[in-house]
Amino acid sequence: MSEIQQNYDVLIAGTGVAGLMCALNLPRDARILMLTKAAVDESDSFLAQGGICMLRGEEDYKSYFEDTMRAGHYENNEAAVRQMILASPDMIRELVADGVDFARDEQGNFRFTREGGHSRPRILFHDDVTGKEITGKLLRLVRTLSNVKIVEYAELVDILESDGECVGGVVRMLQSGEIFPVFAKYTLLATGGVGGLYEHSTNFRHLTGDALAIAMKHGVAVEHLNYVQIHPTTFYSEKHGRRFLISESVRGEGAVLLDKEGKRFCNELLPRDVVTGEIRARMRKDGTKHVWLDMRPVGEKTILEHFPTIYARCLKEGYDVLKTPIPVVPAQHYFMGGIMVDADARTSMPRLFAAGETACNGVHGKNRLASNSLLESLIWAKRAALRMSENLKDEPVKEVQTDLSEYKDYDLLKKQYAESIREEAEREECLD
Ligand SMILES: Cc1cc2nc3c(=O)[nH]c(=O)nc-3n(C[C@H](O)[C@H](O)[C@H](O)COP(=O)(O)OP(=O)(O)OC[C@H]3O[C@@H](n4cnc5c(N)ncnc54)[C@H](O)[C@@H]3O)c2cc1C
Repeated sequence: MSEIQQNYDVLIAGTGVAGLMCALNLPRDARILMLTKAAVDESDSFLAQGGICMLRGEEDYKSYFEDTMRAGHYENNEAAVRQMILASPDMIRELVADGVDFARDEQGNFRFTREGGHSRPRILFHDDVTGKEITGKLLRLVRTLSNVKIVEYAELVDILESDGECVGGVVRMLQSGEIFPVFAKYTLLATGGVGGLYEHSTNFRHLTGDALAIAMKHGVAVEHLNYVQIHPTTFYSEKHGRRFLISESVRGEGAVLLDKEGKRFCNELLPRDVVTGEIRARMRKDGTKHVWLDMRPVGEKTILEHFPTIYARCLKEGYDVLKTPIPVVPAQHYFMGGIMVDADARTSMPRLFAAGETACNGVHGKNRLASNSLLESLIWAKRAALRMSENLKDEPVKEVQTDLSEYKDYDLLKKQYAESIREEAEREECLD
């Protein structure tokens, strides 16, 4: 507790793109505490490979909207989709101003790539490490702000509620086990996805949907907890741990899926859930644990220039993708459901906001269109910051009496949190 004061203007749980973007858009004199359960560079935001979508011009609006809706099985919130698409050029400009470097052609124009479900290329990228480029640059900026304190290995285990409003959170230091309250005028939940609850997932193992369980415990409205996205192509391995993603843009650039006979069996550019279904059906039919992805049609130049990380990782696993197909299998990847929020990232509890993968603003519907999530996380996090900023100066911090005894049995608490999410998510057969 020594390094953390008890009272802040804004408490942010999570240092992925959502948490960082919120911190960057709050007033410079606001006192902000950011918590992360792991090291600061261990968030899914750092793992994003493929890229980030952008509306390329008015003529692309209809088709971008339709692609997002079609991928989401038309269960998307249309107003939210509109908000995301229309805000995308400004958000990209902001990222570029923040120093983010996207691939460009010789004339200095953006280069766009394509992924499954997109009817045209509209995805900006930085090699195959777009998330690291964006998140790393945002983190660098946040670290220069004297009004923001980032604390690693500090977990939000609960929110504090008084008269139906959120007045802060309960924090547990992972290394010392110390537990204490932190009071804040506003709290942002930006704790990412739920992949850590699954055996096979591309997510960091410590992302276990904590904010979601906390929200459910307090009766904060949540939505679509059974909308879990499985990524069709992760590197197949017998080893335990996080699955390595083979980005969809590899297929966008021409890679093909093959069965055990080496035969192509589906259109690789259909939305993720459809391709996942095709792969699983083929694995069942062939009695195999994986199918194959042949990257050779992409060509050596593009593989080495656009996908250097995937190339190097596969080589380490014993596969030279320039010469041979690699084994791939679907794995849990993304969570479309979450804490229900409005256009400004407000939850149903006053003073409590949520953004990023833990929130559900309805953009993705039943299935996320590739490369929409970084964008959506950034836009809603910024809106949260702007909304909080409106009255921040005039608001008091409310300190309430806190009974910490219920957090003493940490393992039991975490078990209860995990169970509350799984009970909901398991209603869908997508669980591994
Ligand atoms: C392998 C991979 C590739 C991807 N590729 C793309 C892509 O190309 N394009 C795209 O748009 N999206 C992509 N995504 C999805 C995208 O990266 C995420 O949806 C997005 O980064 C989520 O950002 P976030 O800020 O909500 O969460 P995260 O970046 O996951 O950050 C969550 C943060 O919360 C912290 N945290 C968790 N629980 C607690 C707690 N209880 N207390 C305190 N802190 C906590 C974590 O430590 C972390 O700092 C990819 C995801 C993966 C896994």
